[in-house]
Amino acid sequence: MMKITSLIIAFSALILLSFNTKNTFISDTLQVQNNPENQNRKSLDFFVIGDWGEANLIQQQVANAMAFEAAKNPIDFIISVGDNFYPHGVRSINDKKWENTFENVYADSNLITDWYTAIGNHDYQGNVGAQLRYHKKNPRWKTTERYFSFKKSIPQSKDSVLFVFIDTNPFDKWVGLFTGGNWRHSKKKQLLWLENVLQASKEKWKIVVGHHPLYTTGIRRGQTADIQAAFLAAFEKHQVDVYFSGHDHSLQHQKPAGHTHYFVSGAGSESRGVTIDSSMTKFAKKDHGFIQAELTKDNLEIKFINANNKDLYHTTISK
Ligand SMILES: [Zn+2]
Repeated sequence: MMKITSLIIAFSALILLSFNTKNTFISDTLQVQNNPENQNRKSLDFFVIGDWGEANLIQQQVANAMAFEAAKNPIDFIISVGDNFYPHGVRSINDKKWENTFENVYADSNLITDWYTAIGNHDYQGNVGAQLRYHKKNPRWKTTERYFSFKKSIPQSKDSVLFVFIDTNPFDKWVGLFTGGNWRHSKKKQLLWLENVLQASKEKWKIVVGHHPLYTTGIRRGQTADIQAAFLAAFEKHQVDVYFSGHDHSLQHQKPAGHTHYFVSGAGSESRGVTIDSSMTKFAKKDHGFIQAELTKDNLEIKFINANNKDLYHTTISK
């Protein structure tokens, strides 16, 4: 009996310990997350999905494809580039959409991991504050601020990667035409914060995530001047390696002149047409899907995978 009791105590302590190490996320601060589970991993693995909040069959098919890939190659976390709930965000942390559009869709055990989410224009049509408080109900939802940063250590190395999530909505003049919610936050304050975060970074890799693209050849082509004006100079000055966005419902890799690679992954529940700009388009496709990313100290491998688990495009960024 004693043996069983001490086993139970040891097991509970183990669970508590792993729970604590998984919840070291501190927004607006810069701490390397040293996950002991990483010691056996060869890379930092994550998905990037966006514009998923339609609660339709396509969303479930993409979720199933994600679960299939994550079963083969386990992931450390998931990035959402926003438009988490259509058409009007959520009303509260008890809104039924949390179950119908998030919990019940990404329910596979391989997708029960940390979700870091940007805020999209459709999220601003509802209660953004509820999206920043939902972590109290389910800590799997990591976002507690409109913009935040965190670091992750890269397995099998002493290097780390900086992730910076920005709120692009206040910078997009189109947002105001459709959004009833309070999206008019200080642009100056956020840009100063971004400059400080990037300036202080010593990480080998720098990845920024936001909802609106700086470059796109989807239906928003020609509408990104405001977003470029706000962020392009900082990305180049601080040599941001990759910017992940959504908003356009397609899968894209754009590489204009300069350092940063631009990926659009806004096809989590709908897909719309794309064009090609020969000066920068490496890949652009109207299809449903997501990005599978694998980071080692020298390489970031990016794969676009569709709802049928077809590998649509594969590229490696090395440094
Ligand atoms: Zn959007």
